[in-house]
Amino acid sequence: MATTFSDMKLETDSFIPDIKILSVHPAFSSVEWSYDDRPIVVGKWNSSGPKIGKSLILQGHIDVVSPEPTRLWDYDPWGSTIVGNKMYGRGICDMKSGVAAMIYAVKAIKKLGIELGADLTLQSVHEEECTGNGALATLLRGYKADGGLIPEPFGPRALLSQVGVIWMRVTVSGSGAHVMSANKAVNAIEKAYTLIEALQIYRDKINYEQPKHADFEDVDHPLNVNIGKIKAGDWTSTVPSECTFEVRIGLYPGQNPQDIKDEAEKYLLKAAKSDPWLSDFPPEITFYGFHAHGVSLNKEQEIFSYLEEAHNKIYKDKMEYLSTTATTDIRHYNLLYDIPTTCYGPTGGNMHAPNEWIDLSSVKECTKVYAAFILSWCGIRNRVDAF
Ligand SMILES: [Zn+2]
Repeated sequence: MATTFSDMKLETDSFIPDIKILSVHPAFSSVEWSYDDRPIVVGKWNSSGPKIGKSLILQGHIDVVSPEPTRLWDYDPWGSTIVGNKMYGRGICDMKSGVAAMIYAVKAIKKLGIELGADLTLQSVHEEECTGNGALATLLRGYKADGGLIPEPFGPRALLSQVGVIWMRVTVSGSGAHVMSANKAVNAIEKAYTLIEALQIYRDKINYEQPKHADFEDVDHPLNVNIGKIKAGDWTSTVPSECTFEVRIGLYPGQNPQDIKDEAEKYLLKAAKSDPWLSDFPPEITFYGFHAHGVSLNKEQEIFSYLEEAHNKIYKDKMEYLSTTATTDIRHYNLLYDIPTTCYGPTGGNMHAPNEWIDLSSVKECTKVYAAFILSWCGIRNRVDAF
């Protein structure tokens, strides 16, 4: 990314997020790893002369989720196989193609010799998939603008609302033994299952027993509670002494992630009380990763009318809006710095699943929409023959 940005003659800043600065910020999501050798890359196209348009951040995340189990893929997950109008690979949809589209839109504008009326910044961040700390790091380094666009692959629709997310880790103790005395032992996997069942009831409770957020009225099940990881046991004839599982929990815009952490912890500890073993040996509950607020945007903001106009130039129809049951990096820009930021991107499928793909013609259309959007949002300083 750094090479691409400097080849484009952008003022390129490649930096490692400073965990000391990040970790004292309230929007920081705690991590158990280091950022060494994992730079964020920013490429800034400085507008020369007085500002005549609005400055813009185009940001994309280049981290991806694991492709495992790779045996379920028909194509190399780390390749980029084209079949017909589709390209397959891990991260192709979420969101390498969006990153490509934003870069090529800027390249096309530069190639025409156009000078923008305000600064434009291209950003390649990481950790959208687990913390959002990458985006936060760019803001704390001082990269701000009048608006932002993140080309997440939601298709040619603007993102209006998204849930928040927390991650929780639950460690359940058993009383291990050789399987021959299993009747006296306590199987940590079986005890964990009691809590997993309780979480299924919790999931129904938060979706159906509290009023839905207005943005998610049409969504059947907005707040997903996902058991994403489980780890226990290392021998088939040993009763496992410990089982750890990890859970992703969604929350509505306006809810505080800390309140949801407290609520989920309380709920699980209460469920543990109804089991004789677990009430004596309650699970250990900790949190790391996502500590993300939800976001609900005001549709009347200028960024949407500019985007609608750009969309209409290419698609000749009315742009649609979307509320997503996932989180994206837009929260930091909107909630912390009042930078109106939305998502709009190409169309694809199988995100976080085998055979992830992108519709290649949608990438081209999306690139054109970005170019039209950049030109009207940032303004054009010079007239060029191409117009
Ligand atoms: Zn994404």
